[in-house]
Amino acid sequence: MVDFTGIKTPFYLYDLDLLRETVSRASKEAGKYGYFIHYAIKANYDPVISGAIRDHGLGVDCVSGNEVRKSLEFGFSERVIVFAGVGKTDEEIKLALDKDIFCLNCESVEELKVIEELAGRSGRTARVALRVNPAVEAETHRHISTGMDENKFGISLPHLQTALDLCSGSEHLEFTGLHFHIGSQITSLEPYRRLCRRVNRIWEQYDISKRGGYILNLGGGFGIDYNDPGRNSIPDFKPFFRLFSENLQLPEGIDVRFELGRSLVGQCGKIVTSVLYVKEGIDKKFVITDAGMTELMRPSLYQAVHKIINISSSGNPETYDVAGPVCESTDIFARDAVLPATSRGDLLQILSCGAYAESMTLNFNLRDKPGKLYIAGGDLMPAGDLPGEDYHKKAMHSR
Ligand SMILES: *Cc1c(COP(=O)(O)O)cnc(C)c1O
Repeated sequence: MVDFTGIKTPFYLYDLDLLRETVSRASKEAGKYGYFIHYAIKANYDPVISGAIRDHGLGVDCVSGNEVRKSLEFGFSERVIVFAGVGKTDEEIKLALDKDIFCLNCESVEELKVIEELAGRSGRTARVALRVNPAVEAETHRHISTGMDENKFGISLPHLQTALDLCSGSEHLEFTGLHFHIGSQITSLEPYRRLCRRVNRIWEQYDISKRGGYILNLGGGFGIDYNDPGRNSIPDFKPFFRLFSENLQLPEGIDVRFELGRSLVGQCGKIVTSVLYVKEGIDKKFVITDAGMTELMRPSLYQAVHKIINISSSGNPETYDVAGPVCESTDIFARDAVLPATSRGDLLQILSCGAYAESMTLNFNLRDKPGKLYIAGGDLMPAGDLPGEDYHKKAMHSR
């Protein structure tokens, strides 16, 4: 057991051994079918984590110009960067063109026109894939579903033909293929099976191969087990990738890609937090921690539930609401959580915080920036003297 005495809380704790195991498992399973994975870097921008993923040979999926910049800084090659987003600014599009990234995943006819104009003005050809909204229900929380008619993402089918014709008619656009991403934290394979059927039909109906399309990017969204991260510390990538190999019916030679975020990094991170107070309410006890929604926004943003453990106490189980210190009523990590009898000074761990925790930190209440530690080779290491930290330095050198 790692000793945390004397370390200022709250802090993120990243297990690099688990990360490497997870990424290599995902690569291996995807590799069986020749699929390529882009890391959805919005899940976690940590340089050591991103560096480890880069070293495994993955590409990166960005949703802002600054993510493109950051990815280049981390040493990802421009040839493996794709860039999606419904609201790319002119500056962001110009950056993508200047850096000559692999592909812009375009989300509307109007955006396509802007990309064309900007590419034309700088005498370039923009490689684009069209992000299609396939109207497929992702069976996840409605706030993280993205592939339905009412979602703002992607080009809806009635407009796809127009977008395709725009591509064919322009010398400044190079059409590469189609992009889909139906949502996040998807724990059943059924939505992906439906997506495959949709994709097969669209590919054929719109003659994507004849139009020069050779990239099929299926996005990400594969979920992790928040209830039992100990048992399922690595998502089961095998049936996930096999499903696509069994259900996609495409012409030979299509380059199939995925954009995984949460499933790669979600389980490798935790938040370690101290109990400040245990407060008696009416029919309730509150455990007040020094971490709050500023360090982990998911519970207040979309009722996400993270498993919490007390690593200081082995007392009899009691029921608590675990809450942060931030001045918002939604700053609650768990309601009616069962923990061993908990008291001031105990250390809690909030599990499965590798994705969408640190990358979503808030400045609200002018809170201190949380600390960060890594576990590598079973040892606890600060960011500074981590072997992985030279991932970052190496990245800077190679540029
Ligand atoms: C967020 C996002 C992903 C990754 O989603 P996960 O649920 O973390 O796998 C992939 N593609 C796009 C376009 C995204 O916006």
